[in-house]
Amino acid sequence: MIKFEQVSKTYLGGQRALSKVNFHIEPGEMAFLTGHSGAGKSTLLKLISIMERPTVGRVLINGHDLNTITRRQIAFIRRDIGMIFQNHHLLMDKSVFDNVALPLIIEGYTRKETSRRVEAALEMVGLSQKAKNSPLMLSGGEQQRVGIARAVVNKPPLLLADEPTGNLDPKLSMEIISLFEDFNQAGVSVFIATHDLGLIARMRYRTLTLRHGQMITDGLNEDEGAWQ
Ligand code: ADP
Ligand code: ADP
Repeated sequence: MIKFEQVSKTYLGGQRALSKVNFHIEPGEMAFLTGHSGAGKSTLLKLISIMERPTVGRVLINGHDLNTITRRQIAFIRRDIGMIFQNHHLLMDKSVFDNVALPLIIEGYTRKETSRRVEAALEMVGLSQKAKNSPLMLSGGEQQRVGIARAVVNKPPLLLADEPTGNLDPKLSMEIISLFEDFNQAGVSVFIATHDLGLIARMRYRTLTLRHGQMITDGLNEDEGAWQ
């Protein structure tokens, strides 16, 4: 599903964000990416979603080498990735329904199909009753669930989340993670970047750890804290 081969990223201006990173995530896996602020987590996710390009090395998504794909293929690969952000980028002047519908409208789905899918997605995150509300009327945890519904509404096989629980307390954070577990159990690959070690410690998932752009551990989270 995701493969990094000797990937380095140096930004214009010389800031080295990733250094010779290698890892492989299988279809259907759920894994965490952790490390201090500035360790390179966001950069690594941006390489997967093709918002940034590697300086050296290869990133492969579903067997496609991102260095050699065409612009048209980029659109197809992006369609297969649901992105979830810390501050969820919701449109506050649109309803919950319209926010979740957005990716489908861009794809040109019919109104009927859009409604059906948006309702299914809102149902999955437990927000069916709030479809007509403005996101402004929702709590932080609910807003994050709207962001998740929007990310899954066109059923991408891969979910990428960048600090999805950043603004949430431990209980709400666990609720968000258990939503990811539901999707994972339905066959979706899930890759979550977080510096919330408490959250990771409460679970036993594969955890990849970055430090100063280098991948220093990759395994079950027993030795969490190794990078502190
Ligand atoms: P994290 O998500 O782990 O906090 P980032 O990937 O955001 O880490 O950052 C890794 C390093 O790359 C940091 O030193 C950061 O300052 C730098 N960096 C991130 N984005 C850019 C950019 N667009 N231009 C220059 N440097 C950047
Ligand atoms: P179809 O694509 O077959 O028309 P639906 O949209 O009705 O199906 O959804 C079928 C089932 O898949 C539902 O039970 C729904 O909860 C579940 N589902 C929908 N989207 C996702 C998703 N992104 N990941 C996992 N399961 C999903």
